[in-house]
Amino acid sequence: MNTRDASVMSGTVLDAYDPAYDPLVDTNPGIGRDYSPSYWVASAGRPPADDGPLEGDLDADVVVIGSGSTGVSTAMYLAQDHQINAVVLEANQTAWGCSSRSGGQGQNASGRLSRSQWIERYGLDTAIRLDREIRTGFENFKDLTRQIDCEAFDGGHLYLAHRPEKLAYLRNLADVRDRMFGYNTPILTAEQVREQYCDEREHCGAILEREGVGVHPLKFTFGMLRKARELGVKIHPASPVLGWETHAGVHHLRTPRGVVRARRVVVCTGGYTGQKLHGEVRNKILPILSNSLVTRVLTDAELKACNFVSKTFLTDTRTLRFYYRLLEGNRLQLGSRSSITGADAHNPVHLKLLTDAIARKFPPLAGIQIDYSWWGWVDVSHDMMPRITRPDPAQAIWHALGYGGNGVSFSTWAGKRLAQRVAGKDGQQAVFDLPIYNTPLEYPNLFGKVRSQAFAPFRRFGQYILYKWYWLRDEK
Ligand SMILES: Cc1cc2nc3c(=O)[nH]c(=O)nc-3n(C[C@H](O)[C@H](O)[C@H](O)COP(=O)(O)OP(=O)(O)OC[C@H]3O[C@@H](n4cnc5c(N)ncnc54)[C@H](O)[C@@H]3O)c2cc1C
Repeated sequence: MNTRDASVMSGTVLDAYDPAYDPLVDTNPGIGRDYSPSYWVASAGRPPADDGPLEGDLDADVVVIGSGSTGVSTAMYLAQDHQINAVVLEANQTAWGCSSRSGGQGQNASGRLSRSQWIERYGLDTAIRLDREIRTGFENFKDLTRQIDCEAFDGGHLYLAHRPEKLAYLRNLADVRDRMFGYNTPILTAEQVREQYCDEREHCGAILEREGVGVHPLKFTFGMLRKARELGVKIHPASPVLGWETHAGVHHLRTPRGVVRARRVVVCTGGYTGQKLHGEVRNKILPILSNSLVTRVLTDAELKACNFVSKTFLTDTRTLRFYYRLLEGNRLQLGSRSSITGADAHNPVHLKLLTDAIARKFPPLAGIQIDYSWWGWVDVSHDMMPRITRPDPAQAIWHALGYGGNGVSFSTWAGKRLAQRVAGKDGQQAVFDLPIYNTPLEYPNLFGKVRSQAFAPFRRFGQYILYKWYWLRDEK
């Protein structure tokens, strides 16, 4: 028996973490691989009990593929609201993907578009309905963060202008939020930010979105996982779906040591969706790497020098934004874009992008020791908005994909909505005609008319050009 077989059988011995994993190149994310070396993994405590790797064949009512916050919340709401006990199949460890690697910034958002962009794209009426939906999801997330021990900090989101020209953009965002959607969005001078939050030296003014909760994302997902299992959900780590056949409406999902047969399948594999998993999710998103670090604990003198008086999370106005915050325990976390391919992910140039940002934003911390550095694949859709849909009405397959790096909060609501759809309760509710629920993921879209996969192999070249263009626009 080889090491991999041993690991699958015991459920505790693991394959090593593979930092070069790339969903567009590798056929599956692994079998029982170890977690990424994130700060969250180091500080979450022991993972909650699970049901071990799948051994033998099984019939299930519903199978959920992927045990991140989307998959776990889907299974939790299926059990809690619809009395359907799903089987969750996870390739590696529970919450192994983005949900153990994110910045933990729970925003009142879904996808990457601003509310002003919603109005341009969908019209005001739809934008207002979409806002109501996303806001409801955010409040639901906030409620969960009160029930789960996850270091939640309900301090809002400070959105910082990284150069003076961006102030007008932020003022307009605040104005649209307040006038059209009824928010109350203070505009802050750089001095106010420095006095009331932290002495971030790069910015020149900000807006405060009051709705934002920072969490320890792994403690949060583990908390949902515990709730799901208490409700009867079965969660099998080290059980990747390696083959998928459908006969007479029954899906046969092949894992290394058993086949699960089910009539309904929910795909919650995010940026880790393999190219060979199923035709309905192939080439529907572009996986993009995001990089993150956590420093050593800041000394009292450093905290004072940076005037860290709040743990409110921050992002800046770069297109490939930096996201950062002071964590519980006084370490600084900061993240941003990374390499284009998995093979280049550990090139020091990507870490340097982050350490240079620390030096610019918080000069007293220049050169500070980095205790944790990791990266993960986020799922980006063709129009920067997610889709919680059943792509083909003839097949009982659903997915929630395309959060574009904004899934900490919204994934939990996507799970709630997915559960309703899988339970057949979506027909009666008008909310399901919103574009995130009733239009397809169609990447790439040829000339805006023909759905085609012909350009899929060139997406990374396009990404490379876009990164160059964003850099010129944001830095020059
Ligand atoms: C570095 C980084 C920073 C981020 N920061 C933020 C942030 O601050 N705020 C925010 O809102 N969002 C952020 N995100 C995004 C956020 O983490 C995700 O949107 C969110 O966690 C939802 O994840 P998910 O459950 O959809 O997918 P994931 O957590 O990625 O879970 C997918 C799971 O599917 C499994 N899987 C894949 N293929 C198979 C298969 N064939 N069989 C079985 N299992 C399979 C994987 O192993 C994985 O565990 C960040 C992401 C990264 C990587």
